[in-house]
Amino acid sequence: MTVVIIGAGMAGLSAARALQAAGREVELFDKGRGPGGRMSTRRAETDLGQVAFDHGAQYFTARDPEFAALVSEMVQAGAVAEWQADLVEIDAQGDVRPMRDERRFVGVPGMNGIIRAMAAPLSVQWAKRLVNTSREEGGWRLVFEDGEVRGGFDQLLFAVPAEQAVDLFQTLHPPFASDAAQAVSDPCWALMLAFEERVDTAWDGGRFEVGAISWAARNSSKPGRSPIETWTLHASPEWSKQHLEADPQEVVSPLLAAFGEHARFAPPIHAAAHRWRYAQITRSAQSDSAWNADLQLGMCGDWRIGARVEAAWLSGRDLALRTLCD
Ligand SMILES: Cc1cc2nc3c(=O)[nH]c(=O)nc-3n(C[C@H](O)[C@H](O)[C@H](O)COP(=O)(O)OP(=O)(O)OC[C@H]3O[C@@H](n4cnc5c(N)ncnc54)[C@H](O)[C@@H]3O)c2cc1C
Repeated sequence: MTVVIIGAGMAGLSAARALQAAGREVELFDKGRGPGGRMSTRRAETDLGQVAFDHGAQYFTARDPEFAALVSEMVQAGAVAEWQADLVEIDAQGDVRPMRDERRFVGVPGMNGIIRAMAAPLSVQWAKRLVNTSREEGGWRLVFEDGEVRGGFDQLLFAVPAEQAVDLFQTLHPPFASDAAQAVSDPCWALMLAFEERVDTAWDGGRFEVGAISWAARNSSKPGRSPIETWTLHASPEWSKQHLEADPQEVVSPLLAAFGEHARFAPPIHAAAHRWRYAQITRSAQSDSAWNADLQLGMCGDWRIGARVEAAWLSGRDLALRTLCD
């Protein structure tokens, strides 16, 4: 049985690992230039040297025992470490309280470290954007943007964000397009900052109930990072929606000014913005994964459960188990 998975983020890799362990032959294709998806790490050169930012997912928790086992395995492999930092929540009145006491993990040396490690024993091809697919006598046939055509796969699984699933399924299988269209996500502008001096705050990461930014974290406080002072800020969903089509350069000063309400710092030596058009799910689909046994076609992703790394892993595993039961 040959399986092809489109999307090698946490969901696609979770499905692939379960299927490979069950003896299936699995191939993955991802349009990204390297491992990460929404757990990407962005590098930049500064006058002080190279820095890297987790500009998507900031950390993850492991509540499911099987996911916790994977995280332990990745800790052993040096691809994940626990982030022990002073993390706070700041409410509309400005009152500060510590974030819920929970173990928080990050990829090492950047967030994409876990994706890289999970992908290593699998057959994954990066920079391969799927543009078309059809079901033929010999199995599923795939057409990639670079012109390559591959065929003969028994099962086709999609592990892409909901909005991209809607586009891909529009003609391929409209019921899946309608299913994916139920999921709704918010955009997020991320600001990546490097400083010569330490930013003056009483905490390493803060979640804010009001204002232009909803999250700010000392990226350099995470394990295995460069000691150069780096921060990642996330604009709130409302602010991100209002500035959705802004030029990345235009969002730098207002977000920096908003950060100035919470911290004291000298002008950054590096500032760059990235827009996540589909960042975090606010309304998820009805089931953990979708599977059509007649077509041997499925889809998974965080958007089936919730905006969390662990949800992506759970959805991928759910889909793999469903395909194995058929
Ligand atoms: C700004 C931000 C902050 C976040 N913060 C947190 C956090 O602190 N904690 C937490 O747990 N979660 C957080 N999340 C959510 C977390 O990142 C996601 O839940 C998780 O990474 C989703 O994994 P996934 O595999 O479902 O999707 P993705 O990681 O998006 O993977 C989908 C993959 O599909 C590929 N793809 C798409 N279309 C195609 C195509 N046509 N052909 C080939 N490949 C394709 C993409 O390149 C991508 O690699 C955050 C997300 C963002 C954006």
